[in-house]
Amino acid sequence: MSAPIDLEALRRELHAHPEVSGQERATAARIAQELRALQPDELLTAVGGHGILASFGTDPQGPQVLVRCELDALPIQEVNTMAHLSTAPGVSHKCGHDGHAAMVVGLAEKLAEQRPGKGQCHLLFQPAEENGAGAAAVLADPRMQGRKFGLVLALHNLPGYPMGSVVVCKGAFTASVNSLVIKLAGRTAHAAEPEHGSNPAMAIARIMEGALALQHNDPEGDHLRVVTVVHVCIGSPDYGIAAGYGELHLTVRCWNDEELRELEQEIEQLARNEARRHGLGVQVDPCFTFKANRNADAAVERVIQAAKATGHAVIQREHPFKWGEDFGLFTARYPGCMFGLGAGEDQPALHNPDYDFPDALIPHGIAVFEAAVRDFLAS
Ligand SMILES: [Zn+2]
Ligand SMILES: [Zn+2]
Repeated sequence: MSAPIDLEALRRELHAHPEVSGQERATAARIAQELRALQPDELLTAVGGHGILASFGTDPQGPQVLVRCELDALPIQEVNTMAHLSTAPGVSHKCGHDGHAAMVVGLAEKLAEQRPGKGQCHLLFQPAEENGAGAAAVLADPRMQGRKFGLVLALHNLPGYPMGSVVVCKGAFTASVNSLVIKLAGRTAHAAEPEHGSNPAMAIARIMEGALALQHNDPEGDHLRVVTVVHVCIGSPDYGIAAGYGELHLTVRCWNDEELRELEQEIEQLARNEARRHGLGVQVDPCFTFKANRNADAAVERVIQAAKATGHAVIQREHPFKWGEDFGLFTARYPGCMFGLGAGEDQPALHNPDYDFPDALIPHGIAVFEAAVRDFLAS
């Protein structure tokens, strides 16, 4: 038996060498090195980019469970002072994916020690979660085709919740999120003679005002609607020219995909009306899509039982979180559960420049995952 993996050291090493979405080459190589030493029954690399799938168990006819974590960091400059500071300028692990990956390496170690007798457990280290591209790329990988999972699991650490508490939500766990790029094309004119051109400025102002008025930003209500202006550009700083082109970039979010489609259609109609009124060409392009994570009731129940069996407090939420998570593509295809793991009430929030994953959380994530996986494989 080899010495146990120092998961805290591994987490800190990953933290010190972060890579943004789609570029997780060194991160994946480092994790694959640890996994290889554990001799999984199957190990796939370069899955949907830099993803890794490590499988334990040799019974493809038995129950199949997938546990997913993420590999990517964010384009955020770290402002902390600890020894394992990011060595990549402007890039850092501010969502705790370094910690999630360390937990799943820890789970691999448990599965290597005591291999599933029945069924298989597949550990997915997914690339490119933050830009919403990774889950789709993994699922499109030919080596993932035809696989059927009876249970898919993922967790996210949650600053603001008591350390090690397990946070569950029946139905959706995260919101349905999309981004809209509204492009308005008019015609430039001399700035002294704006009447000869068509300037998108007023249309953009009205679309912005109208779209924001469609909001119902109540996270405790049943029909959330959040519209956020993320970027606007009109014309250029050339003072002799009246603007002839503009773009408005919005993100929109609702609790479910259907209500999101309705909100998007209302905004698109608004854009078309204003474009017509101001004699502009209009194009509305969606991007950066995250499907709502729809948890299956039985999978949520299994996570609750796993939490209780391992001595973790369970917090049930009434409503999902407002952020998007591309694990929603997995829960759209397979019965599954995404759950939260409290990272401490005083922990800086996710994506904040001073956030750092608390290492003390690693054994908690492993314990809950392992209990849920073994319970499912025994079922
Ligand atoms: Zn994030
Ligand atoms: Zn994250």
